[in-house]
Amino acid sequence: MELMLDISSHDLLIIGGGGAGLRAAIAASEVFPNLNIGIVSKVYPMRSHTVSAEGGAAGAIRSDDSLDEHAYDTISGGDWLCDQDAVEAFVKEAPEELLRLEHWGCPWNREPDGHIAVRPFGGMKKMRTWFAADKTGFHMLHTLFQTCLKHSAITRYDEYFATKLLVEEGRVQGCIALELMSGKLQAITAKAVILTTGGCGRVFRFTTNASIKTGDGMSLAYRAGAPLKDMEFIQYHPTGLPFTGILITEAVRSEGGYLLNKDGYRYLQDYNLGTPQPKPVLRSMELGPRDRLSQAFVKEVEKGRAVEGPYGPVVHLDLRHLGERIINTKLPFVRELCLKYENIDPVTELVPVRPVAHYMMGGVDTDINGATPLAGLYAAGEVACVSINGANRLGSNSLPELLVFGARAGVHAGRFALEQKSPGRHLLTQALDEEALIRRQFLPKTGRRERISAIREQMQKIMEDGAGIYRSGASLTEAAGKLRELQERFPNIALDDQSQAFNTELISAFELSSMLDVAETMVHCALNRCESRGAHQRTDFPARNDEKFLAHSLATRKADGTPQVSYSPVTITRWPPAERVYGK
Ligand SMILES: Cc1cc2nc3c(=O)[nH]c(=O)nc-3n(C[C@H](O)[C@H](O)[C@H](O)COP(=O)(O)OP(=O)(O)OC[C@H]3O[C@@H](n4cnc5c(N)ncnc54)[C@H](O)[C@@H]3O)c2cc1C
Repeated sequence: MELMLDISSHDLLIIGGGGAGLRAAIAASEVFPNLNIGIVSKVYPMRSHTVSAEGGAAGAIRSDDSLDEHAYDTISGGDWLCDQDAVEAFVKEAPEELLRLEHWGCPWNREPDGHIAVRPFGGMKKMRTWFAADKTGFHMLHTLFQTCLKHSAITRYDEYFATKLLVEEGRVQGCIALELMSGKLQAITAKAVILTTGGCGRVFRFTTNASIKTGDGMSLAYRAGAPLKDMEFIQYHPTGLPFTGILITEAVRSEGGYLLNKDGYRYLQDYNLGTPQPKPVLRSMELGPRDRLSQAFVKEVEKGRAVEGPYGPVVHLDLRHLGERIINTKLPFVRELCLKYENIDPVTELVPVRPVAHYMMGGVDTDINGATPLAGLYAAGEVACVSINGANRLGSNSLPELLVFGARAGVHAGRFALEQKSPGRHLLTQALDEEALIRRQFLPKTGRRERISAIREQMQKIMEDGAGIYRSGASLTEAAGKLRELQERFPNIALDDQSQAFNTELISAFELSSMLDVAETMVHCALNRCESRGAHQRTDFPARNDEKFLAHSLATRKADGTPQVSYSPVTITRWPPAERVYGK
């Protein structure tokens, strides 16, 4: 395999072509029509994970709802770790963004009288989740993509994989990307860069996340010197299909689905999540927040009340009482997934489900405008931690998050870019260095023995055993040690494929390297946080400790490659910390 190097230049470079990346590009292009914008994406933009979002997008719109109630549900759902100034901006701008998307062509479901239809969602105490059947992300991404096509200032690099950020004079000034089709390296210089590379669920074995969600952007930022924030907070979704991890959306429970244990009993009534009540009072126990529901599953397993399946314990999701008409009109995709992947028809049969890693609350540390502490670097969407999600995200807040903060990052990074001089002179040297590094690291085979798949599987097992729904000091210390060993073994991986075109083995190697970085920050942040809050549950520190840990964790990379953890304050505006109460 021969590496070659090409050079191109933009004012603003966006790495990631999902919802956040496209929204950022449109915002920047609308506000600054003369800005020259590039978007790099490792997959064709319509294949980004946003496309698979099913349930919906939250934004207060009904007359019985208010921005303050959406803010309070988000903040209490996040166990008071959210920055409240960010949440206030978010709840205000979310409905505006969702309406804008409607004007661009997004087909939101409507009530018979023409009003926007909203559905209940976990942890939201009012109905405020907009939806387009159970294919909301598909319709949103389509709308953004076709709007993006109208902006001639936007150049796309589809199927280019970013391997490194270019940093000169303390400022991020572009990236190096590998073109998958040719194997050529592209040095893309820019006056500002926005990371919109999405999450990292693939660090875990059972996940709803597409195989492309490997935390590349988090690792790019971390290696360039930007801190990662709140990495210990990983959301498990309570209802994934066993083995594949495919998501069965929360919308099934908002439409009235039950969770049953092996005795056919709605076990959630034993976990302080209230008693179910009819719409529009939304305190039914199946619609509790995701962290509590996933923790209840573990307790049911411990009590011996789960069902033993071929891929470990499961519980049952029961939709039978909803009837075929509701399932076909409101949840057609769920029926399709169950039939295709489990050979089960939810109209007449119970669906086996288990908690699966779903969403990353943490990410690259940004302010309310997407700016990271590293000059010229911005981030938005799941790769970023603003933070509106705190210790536990409420379902349906991420789609509006990527719109609100994608747009903010686009405008602010665009303005920053216009104020900068031309890119630095030494960037080409850095590009050549990266080329040499890739050549040294991956191309020769001799004397190398390690397999990518072996290291990846071990990492996933270490994370599930040591840093899953419940963790302890002992399990995390062990996980940290084992991950370090994997980091040390990584340089010895051998690639069989030395071809130029679509070398997916080489891409898997880059992705594994990103995941190892991300996994280490998760484990170190979790080890340092000696309390239980939201999705971070320590068996050795079962209570929340606001005195010591009402703070964001910040992981920075030390010279030896290990993470250094420090803390920064949480912004509290109007809602002082209180107990999280559901279903009274
Ligand atoms: C199955 C599923 C269902 C969901 N349902 C909902 C829901 O109903 N409501 C809700 O609010 N949230 C939902 N979420 C969460 C939400 O969809 C995501 O958080 C959000 O879509 C992420 O958008 P993003 O733009 O940040 O990233 P993505 O859409 O994941 O896009 C990431 C982009 O980065 C690019 N990229 C990554 N690495 C590189 C690299 N190294 N080089 C170049 N490009 C790169 C990719 O090509 C891609 O274009 C769901 C998530 C999943 C997995």
